[in-house]
Amino acid sequence: MNAMLDSGVTTRPTERAVTRATFDDVLVPTYAPAAMVPVRAAGLDLWDQAGKHYLDFTAGIAVTSLGHAHPVLVEALTRQINTLWHLGNGYTNEPVLRLAIALTEATFADRAFFCNSGAEANEAALKLARKYAHTKFGPHKSRIISCLSSFHGRTLFTVSVGGQAKYTEGFEPLPQEINHVPYNDIAAAVAAITDDVAAVIVEPIQGEGGVIPGQVAYLQALRERCDATGALLVFDEVQSGVGRSGTLYAYMQQGVTPDILTSAKALGNGYPIGAMLTTNAIAEHFGVGSHGTTYGGNPLAATVALNVVEIINTPAFLARVKEAAARLMASLDVLSADYPQLFGKARGMGLLIGVPVADAFKGRAKDFTKAAEGLGLMLLIAGPDVIRLAPALIVSDAQLDDALRIMRAAAEQVIAADAAHVAATPAAV
Ligand SMILES: *Cc1c(COP(=O)(O)O)cnc(C)c1O
Repeated sequence: MNAMLDSGVTTRPTERAVTRATFDDVLVPTYAPAAMVPVRAAGLDLWDQAGKHYLDFTAGIAVTSLGHAHPVLVEALTRQINTLWHLGNGYTNEPVLRLAIALTEATFADRAFFCNSGAEANEAALKLARKYAHTKFGPHKSRIISCLSSFHGRTLFTVSVGGQAKYTEGFEPLPQEINHVPYNDIAAAVAAITDDVAAVIVEPIQGEGGVIPGQVAYLQALRERCDATGALLVFDEVQSGVGRSGTLYAYMQQGVTPDILTSAKALGNGYPIGAMLTTNAIAEHFGVGSHGTTYGGNPLAATVALNVVEIINTPAFLARVKEAAARLMASLDVLSADYPQLFGKARGMGLLIGVPVADAFKGRAKDFTKAAEGLGLMLLIAGPDVIRLAPALIVSDAQLDDALRIMRAAAEQVIAADAAHVAATPAAV
């Protein structure tokens, strides 16, 4: 038992005073959260325990795309909470049926499978692809091709498929027959997609790997090679999906259609839900009992997701995402031009944007996001060298301008601190 909890304190846990330091006492140390503890938020405004205000340009890692506490979602969830929370998979429910209709009508897919996270959606996709390949072609067709620097989740299968070795170290033995190829490299992909490949999984825009958009010619080549070999093409749109790219899913503007698509993050705007979407011909290879999860398609999660899709998937909403993205990209270009010693050229798709740090600040993207946080702007990184911006899609022009003003001030701070550090460091002799 934890010493703090065993110290004779009698207040109920719900009334206990907690701080950032509590994290270090009672949480398994898998994260290093910020010093401030957020307690309340609405839209893109967020307040910490001390009452300090922040502009949230993280959206919980591209999750709360409609902002915090969106009134329509609050109302729909509250109504559902008072109606029906949960059923086992021995029963279906109205919200999940409506959500499946909405997602299949809006995409290439005929059918949906629901789960609780991006990793689970990918786990379902990879299992389905192997089942499909084994039934249709035989047990030799098992290989999975994925990209270096990709991220697909943290289950043992998805972390093995993901292209970052640091996430599998220490967890061996790993699932077999998985190969990694460089992203956006057509020749390497064509060579790797042999007849024993069951699935090729790719992010249409690599998120965690540094916000790198997939090239259309590359995705087309993957599509052609999959068609030629009978492999299934899986698009992981866990981060790029549900409007963030400026279309409901990124594949819709890239013009390449996958066989399986996975979605999570923004789908529930913070209420946990994941989805795997696919066609009739592929879905039929999962039968009753093939796969499942207790909470998948739970009425609460399905209600939130249904409302999220309904709000985001309109021409006017998506046009505004593109407009906001263009405005943000233009001001980031000005920022990079004004501080070339700190920033490289911004890149991305829609409101998923990465700004690489210049060589002099390599490995120090976090120094910048920490300075911005001190000045009241929450930002993400994507690896040690890239500052990532993923504001809620409802961001206003005034909020975009505020964020840029704070980024400018943070840049001045970081550059001044670096100069002071350089001045204080004795020159090497
Ligand atoms: C976040 C993410 C995942 C994992 O989603 P979880 O909900 O954390 O399991 C998978 N793929 C991509 C592209 C992601 O960005």
